[in-house]
Amino acid sequence: MSASRHPFARLWTGYLRRHLWWIVLAAVLMAVEGSTVGALSYMLEPMFDVVFVAGRADLIVWIGLAIFGLFVLRGVAGVAQRIIMARVAFEASSRLQQDLLAHVLGLDSAYFSSQSPGQLIERVQGDVQAIQQIWTGILTSAGRDAVGLVSLMVVAIMVDPIWTLVAIIGAPLLVLPSLIVQRYIRRKSVALRDIAGRRTTRLDEIFHGITPIKLNAMEAYQRDRFRTATEDMVRATVRTQAGQATVPALVDFAVGFGFLAVLLYGGPQIIAGEKTIGQFMSFFTAMSLAFQPLRRLAGLSANWQTMMASLDRVYALADTVPTILEPPTAARARPARSDLAFEDVSLSYGDTPVLRGVSFEVPQGTTTALVGLSGAGKSTLFNVLTRLVDPVGGRATIGGQDIRDFSIADLRGLFSVVSQETLLFDETLRENLTLGRPVSDADMARALEAAHVSDFLGDLPAGLDSPAGPRGSNLSGGQRQRVAIARALLRDTPILLLDEATSALDTKSERLVQQALTRLSANRTTLVIAHRLSTVRDADQIVVLDQGRVAERGSHDSLLAAKGLYTQLHGLQGAP
Ligand code: ADP
Repeated sequence: MSASRHPFARLWTGYLRRHLWWIVLAAVLMAVEGSTVGALSYMLEPMFDVVFVAGRADLIVWIGLAIFGLFVLRGVAGVAQRIIMARVAFEASSRLQQDLLAHVLGLDSAYFSSQSPGQLIERVQGDVQAIQQIWTGILTSAGRDAVGLVSLMVVAIMVDPIWTLVAIIGAPLLVLPSLIVQRYIRRKSVALRDIAGRRTTRLDEIFHGITPIKLNAMEAYQRDRFRTATEDMVRATVRTQAGQATVPALVDFAVGFGFLAVLLYGGPQIIAGEKTIGQFMSFFTAMSLAFQPLRRLAGLSANWQTMMASLDRVYALADTVPTILEPPTAARARPARSDLAFEDVSLSYGDTPVLRGVSFEVPQGTTTALVGLSGAGKSTLFNVLTRLVDPVGGRATIGGQDIRDFSIADLRGLFSVVSQETLLFDETLRENLTLGRPVSDADMARALEAAHVSDFLGDLPAGLDSPAGPRGSNLSGGQRQRVAIARALLRDTPILLLDEATSALDTKSERLVQQALTRLSANRTTLVIAHRLSTVRDADQIVVLDQGRVAERGSHDSLLAAKGLYTQLHGLQGAP
């Protein structure tokens, strides 16, 4: 897709437009900086021919001062334009990063199961950084160097158009090799970005999985894998850099060839007196000064390829659209009741059916326990209700209304989810509880009490202001769960989705968690993935799932009497 037509490219130009006047100012400064080199080489002709050759000693100081002035002007303009452009480029890329993250946050959960966090981090961070760096380089030097080059060409043409033509005679020979090198750089840059993503993934997995890594003595294995990733990265970087270095080298060949040609063609003219020494000096200075900007411009064209490789990856991310969509604003319903129902819901992951025509109702304010073997589809039902996935067939309703008629924020606002892997953020306990919403002290105290968080709050160094640690690691499993319950109490939503912990909490913790859960689910429509006999017994209804189907439904006693799957599951748990 062409860069200029992509919606994100339009955003990009939008960011730049916001700074238009700064860019204009920087461009003027660039033109000043660039044209000083032309002026400089132009000054050499009068210096030689008028001052030295004609012997005008009185003019020496003026010419000297003029040249000095040109250098000062060049320095000042250079600094000013670079500061302005660095700011503009950096702000533009930061905006791109923010917009990109906003876009990524809106993508489906399924997308996140298909992309490793390392690759995503590299796209949002590494690729945008690469774009920003190169872009800053292009903005700050391309204009200056282009103006410089043009002004030097003008001087050269003024001295002798034929010499100029002779000087650039080697240039067309470079077109083909340079195209080949550009393609090589692009390919290597793409590979490099991919390897960078894999390396970040390694790190992400190591830091996430540090406990299993230690427990399984996998340190050496992980170290080796990371070393391999790093070595791949070094190899790819060297290749990209080699490609990038080749482009200015091609310029060296062309310029060297030009020097040779001009010397062979123009040298005899000077000796014959057809040209002055001043003209020759002016021309050669122009050519020598053209050399650096030309190399830099060639280098930029190589960097451009690297930038486009990153830009392609960013665009690919930007082109990924969510499939879990909001209903059109006009057609939106507001949830009124909290009874919920599944109506013939089917869902597959790839070719594997996970839910096959699930139907049942949960009346408002009652508790339904979901039981079934692992993999039966219990968690998937939660995901369907909260629209982390949409079913391929059937529908889920709340208050009789298809959940797809609600705005996603309204829908998710109906639920509190308390699951086995309670996610605590690396913030204080208070922030983990309020999640950015204002909460009164009285409400907080009530929730802490009801969830039995106050029981252990005194043991923490700073009470509610104690840090939870990365992923809540400063708390025990039971404590984390009670924090999650307090969070749900504060959210005070009409529907509750509970995933009971299978991992054994100690008996005291379990009892406290159980009490807290009972308080939490009072008067709320509750769907609980149940592992404990007590929970199942107390539920108003039990739904037994088997391979994505509702196998049985009823109360504890009626299901036991039926002697079906429930009775077997019950036996598995070692229940009497
Ligand atoms: P339960 O909660 O009953 O243990 P789940 O609802 O988590 O079962 O999973 C049901 C089935 O769906 C499992 O076989 C699981 O492997 C599969 N599954 C769940 N999530 C995904 C996913 N994101 N991609 C592919 N398969 C999945």
